Amino acid sequence: MGNPRTLDVLRRVFGYDTFRDNQQQIVDHVTAGGDALVLMPTGGGKSLCYQIPALVRDGVGVVVSPLIALMQDQVEALRAVGVRAGYLNSTQDPDERRMVEAEFLAGELDLLYLAPERLRSEATMRLIERGPVSVFAIDEAHCVAQWGHDFRPDYLELSKLSERRPDVPRVALTATATPATRAEITTRLGLENARVFVSSFDRPNIQYRIVPKKDPRRQLLDFLRTEHPHDAGIVYCLSRRSVEETAEFLTRNGIEALPYHAGLDSATRIRHQARFLREEGLVVVATIAFGMGIDKPDVRFVAHLDLPKSVEGYYQETGRAGRDGLPSTAWLAYGLSDVVAQRRLIDTSEGDAAHRRRLAAHLDAMLALCETVECRRVGLLAYFGQDSRPCGNCDTCLSPPESWDGTVAAQKLLSTVVRLRRERGQKFGAGQVVDILRGKHTPKVTQHRHDELSVFGVGSDLSEVEWRGVVRQLLAQGLLAVEGDYGTLVTTEASDEVLYRGRTVRMRRDPNRLAVRSSRATA
Ligand code: ADP
Ligand code: ZN
Repeated sequence: MGNPRTLDVLRRVFGYDTFRDNQQQIVDHVTAGGDALVLMPTGGGKSLCYQIPALVRDGVGVVVSPLIALMQDQVEALRAVGVRAGYLNSTQDPDERRMVEAEFLAGELDLLYLAPERLRSEATMRLIERGPVSVFAIDEAHCVAQWGHDFRPDYLELSKLSERRPDVPRVALTATATPATRAEITTRLGLENARVFVSSFDRPNIQYRIVPKKDPRRQLLDFLRTEHPHDAGIVYCLSRRSVEETAEFLTRNGIEALPYHAGLDSATRIRHQARFLREEGLVVVATIAFGMGIDKPDVRFVAHLDLPKSVEGYYQETGRAGRDGLPSTAWLAYGLSDVVAQRRLIDTSEGDAAHRRRLAAHLDAMLALCETVECRRVGLLAYFGQDSRPCGNCDTCLSPPESWDGTVAAQKLLSTVVRLRRERGQKFGAGQVVDILRGKHTPKVTQHRHDELSVFGVGSDLSEVEWRGVVRQLLAQGLLAVEGDYGTLVTTEASDEVLYRGRTVRMRRDPNRLAVRSSRATA
């Protein structure tokens, strides 16, 4: 049995009958003054885990949240149900801020939302030292972890909270905690003695599908027409241009789609977001700028036309589908060009070598998920430290991919890369390497006299598409690497094991069914 006061608040203030999953345990633990680390997927109901303790305990609950754009909405939603809430962030003028500070000191608030950059201000820290704080809530706690995918330096200031107010219980919450990130949150926030609450990260109603990228917009159109006509959904693209073009393409083909990216003026962005929330069956084509805090229950699909940078990102973005629990699809088209583009982004990213290594590790985990022959869900959940059994509701469960012995193909490809370097001192991208393997007499082959290489034409048994699949999978398995602006292929230490030490390579055969399906689409 839980604390009757917390259940009372749940019903009276928020109008819900029962707590979900482990919400009650968390709420009761924090209300009783305990520290907590809460790992719960997006949409799981993290907010109540600190809002209710803040209402039941004496004093003001202080919530640190990086989502400044949403702060005002959250506060307004709370006020609408009679909760005394306020916020402090950089968008306010000094008068406004002073008023909120006075309310806080007088204990006239239930909840005070703080933007993380406020923690750098000594004035704010002194305020917190003096005020009647009931609980500290650290939302999106993974932002404190450098290992994570969304590090924010201001979050490092959070350790000061417990130094200044060791008497106040703290609850840190996140939806994206892999074991590594979780360990870093624990040490950075000094939560070694906190009770850890882990919810299941499984979203059983989401069907995960990852398809080889051929003609992505056409594949998308076909997917939407056959499986999600008139459904609301989000399509993610990497670049603004691709967002614009894809939205136009879909609209031209009878699927109303609105673009959303940071390059649009804010009035347009607000209008498109509002239409998406209000109208039925609209598609938004967006960069990842879209969706933070979007709480639309009936998003039936999330499609990715470009590879996400990390499994955390993929999980967070796909998690916006099916919050109402009804069947939904997470669909991703992925190809060799994605790997090349992402590696280039990493190579040119700001930050030190350690930072680039972290980015590369995130990408590798994402590639492994794309190329797996096992259940996608098992792989996804394992990444978050959760064991599970094959789900029966992902592409690899529904049509198990054939695997084949790609050792000889791998050897041919790797030795072509090695020969180009050793015999010619050259590096080339996948296109040229595949042309050499297939024995194609292109102008570029002739120009470089690549038809004189002993490997010329040794790979005519595989199609160009199949060869690109081989390159992709070698990259995913770390047996090959790309570098530079032109995505040139280079071998890795592990390549030698395949070339000289008899290591075998299993590969996933790309399903052909999808090629047949996508060719039905019309412009
Ligand atoms: P998160 O922060 O974990 O992404 P939220 O706290 O925003 O999730 O909650 C997601 C949705 O679930 C919200 O619409 C919220 O009102 C609803 N919700 C949370 N807890 C409950 C509950 N016990 N009963 C019914 N709905 C709930
Ligand atoms: Zn599965």
